[in-house]
Amino acid sequence: MKRMIAMLLAMLLAMSCWALAEEKETDRGVIIFPESESDDSNGPQKLPPESKPFVPGDVQRTILGSDDRVRVGDTWQYPFCSIAYIVGKYECGCRWYSSGFMVTRDTLMTAAHCLVCQEHNKWATNMTFYFGYISDQSYLYRYNSEWTAYVGTLFPDGYTSVNDWGYVHFNTNVGDTTGWFGMRYPNDDDLEAGIYYIAGYRDGQLKYDIGTVRVLDSDRMWIDADILPGNSGCPVFDANNYAVGLFTTYYDNANSGFRLSSKTHNKLVADGLL
Ligand SMILES: [Zn+2]
Repeated sequence: MKRMIAMLLAMLLAMSCWALAEEKETDRGVIIFPESESDDSNGPQKLPPESKPFVPGDVQRTILGSDDRVRVGDTWQYPFCSIAYIVGKYECGCRWYSSGFMVTRDTLMTAAHCLVCQEHNKWATNMTFYFGYISDQSYLYRYNSEWTAYVGTLFPDGYTSVNDWGYVHFNTNVGDTTGWFGMRYPNDDDLEAGIYYIAGYRDGQLKYDIGTVRVLDSDRMWIDADILPGNSGCPVFDANNYAVGLFTTYYDNANSGFRLSSKTHNKLVADGLL
């Protein structure tokens, strides 16, 4: 926790110059409140059918570098073009950078704390979603129009990785250009048996690492891969471009993420998005 707070403070300091330069804009987003902070359903659940990934054009990954985290050379290639670099401005005046990923033709999944400033419990009022980001002037697709979002938690008692997920619904079919990830909901054993890509933006650069995950509980998992602030909300996905979860935070000195499950699936279905 201390580490996370220190990290956030460092980010705030680093970004204060941006916040000062912020111009006044009208709100573009509406965020739906979570129905309940503790509506955990117990017992085994029948897993819903997997969703199918959409692959636009040729699938070819171009990779540069030899670090643990590998920079994606061509961010316009699927599946990397389905990952968003999110620049968010919040009611409290904060400005945060995060990641997200398309899961349907018009829906993006990310972490709840990318949509709510967890320090001030204030909503994002303006968000710009870049896909295939190279620079503010060069990208595959940019969405900065109206959106509706849902978050799994409002962090009423401070930050927790429980229910730290949410989605953003766009009013145009962004996915027709960017493609989207399929979603898969493996049981504990199958989840731990897999090898996953974790790919997210930081400082405008998309990098990925490959690693395994360990089950923390029915909603969360440890991620054994290199991840950094800014990657929040980025997808954890398999070699067939099915997402199994998203990166949320550091927790007990390890990276952790939120698992996709029948819970997230059913919420998307209930809201008419799947
Ligand atoms: Zn704030």
